[in-house]
Amino acid sequence: MIRILTELELNDKTVFLRVDFNVPLKDGKVGEPHRIDSALPTLRFILDRAKKVIVASHLGRPDGKFVDKYSLAPVQRYLQDALQFPVAMASDCIGPSVENLLRTGAGKVVLLENLRFHPEEEKNDENFSRALAALADTYVNDAFGAAHRAHASIAGMTKFFKNKGAGLLLQRELDYLAPLLANPAQPFVTILGGAKVSDKIGVIRNLLPKVSALLIGGGMAYTFLKAQGIEIGASLLEQDKIELAAELMQQAKQLGVNLLLPVDHIAGDRERKNPVTINDSAVPRDLMGLDIGPKTAQVFAAEIERAKLVLWNGPVGLFEVPPYDQGSRVLAQALADNHPAVTGIIAGGDTVAAVSAAGLSSRIAHLSTGGGATLEFLEGKILPGIKALDDQP
Ligand code: AMP
Repeated sequence: MIRILTELELNDKTVFLRVDFNVPLKDGKVGEPHRIDSALPTLRFILDRAKKVIVASHLGRPDGKFVDKYSLAPVQRYLQDALQFPVAMASDCIGPSVENLLRTGAGKVVLLENLRFHPEEEKNDENFSRALAALADTYVNDAFGAAHRAHASIAGMTKFFKNKGAGLLLQRELDYLAPLLANPAQPFVTILGGAKVSDKIGVIRNLLPKVSALLIGGGMAYTFLKAQGIEIGASLLEQDKIELAAELMQQAKQLGVNLLLPVDHIAGDRERKNPVTINDSAVPRDLMGLDIGPKTAQVFAAEIERAKLVLWNGPVGLFEVPPYDQGSRVLAQALADNHPAVTGIIAGGDTVAAVSAAGLSSRIAHLSTGGGATLEFLEGKILPGIKALDDQP
């Protein structure tokens, strides 16, 4: 059974809170704070009740070494401002420096330095897990974005705790994502975009029997168009996935799923410059399809309007470079305009960024903090971080 934060005894406890503060940094500052902001309710809940909270996260891929640019120091500064409460920063995540800091009463909130500065974190090392566990008497996991990793702070250390459970963000993520697999409200529409088909195969296979419509845009759409024998010019293509795309389209047909592909495009040259609208599903030679066209955006928006539940993973264009952000903006707007009649769930860092750039984050039901974790969950896998919270697995 997995307990949730509100069921845990917190009074007088020292809580180890695993969060996912793996956020993009820009000029030594937090660039996109969605993941930090999403964990604030959990942090405040614990802060109001416990003796102390030790906050732990990884950041980037420092490969088991101390690397300055992956220090959590910028996160400490952001967190302190956001919480409006002092946050002490430890220079490591285990060892005498941390124990001293905790003993000398550094304050109620202590942020540990990047867990991945130790190679033992990613190896799920037993001794490292024990050393982390020795810092606290209660364990809370709110790191949904890292729940697909069997690492020490997510998996290994949990067995040392009786008092452990899921944070409010982890609970919220599961409350939104679990029904997508169990008994989704209908019509359930899934929109997939992004660069690669290969990352999304498992999700497509698992969701196809549950959706009423599957809308495919972005770079991955071109492999599907190619599988229909349509000219795609110089657009992104995964040659070795053409057959699979054909098979998935066949499967969708058998299941009665409305699988929609772009019927027009915004294309650019090979340098991704000189955007032009292509009023056809075929992309001329030498041009790259870089966004869904206005007609496709309208067709997709109409599907959103008709839906009860929409899952969207992956921008439908090269949204970082205007004007190739238009298609994603239209979809985000359709979700916002139909909220709350349509429950919109946005998954993946890029898609969340596209919605934020459109200024619509607060008008959509749920912006998941998981990228890989959300995809693995939707593939039907049991995430190690969730399994590790279960005291009778
Ligand atoms: P993914 O990590 O597979 O979800 O891919 C996200 C990336 O795909 C983003 O950086 C988008 O800019 C990019 N993307 C989406 N559509 C296209 C496209 N038509 N051509 C090139 N890149 C694209």
